[in-house]
Amino acid sequence: MADDEERSSCLFCNIVAGSIPATIVRESDRVLAFRDITPRAPTHILIIPKEHIASAAELEDRHGDLLADIHQAAVQLAGAEGIADSGWRLISNVGPDSGQEVFHLHYHLLGGRPLGPLVTPTG
Ligand code: AMP
Ligand code: ZN
Repeated sequence: MADDEERSSCLFCNIVAGSIPATIVRESDRVLAFRDITPRAPTHILIIPKEHIASAAELEDRHGDLLADIHQAAVQLAGAEGIADSGWRLISNVGPDSGQEVFHLHYHLLGGRPLGPLVTPTG
């Protein structure tokens, strides 16, 4: 469990607490979804647990129901965004090579245009 200092300095914990504004599109007892501030696709929503978990690497056995809720939220949001049939992608970055910038577990829900290759090809 995260300590109070970790939570109070965490951007997404502050969005959960309502002290930093966000465009919230879905909320349940365990999960919050809001629009990414720098959208990379017509639909770019971040789905997060309300509990502070630094990344997918910190998940524990007890988080099974939470993960089901997050995936259910993704399916429902894709429907609400009108991208259920065109398709969508759910991504979570973990650690330096992934480019993770915010160390509170989050899943990027992306869609609304062809998303291209899963990763940028490199030489
Ligand atoms: P990641 O690189 O996977 O850690 O993704 C962090 C994401 O958080 C990026 O896509 C940012 O654009 C997004 N982001 C940063 N600050 C905010 C904010 N205040 N509200 C919404 N999204 C944010
Ligand atoms: Zn947090």
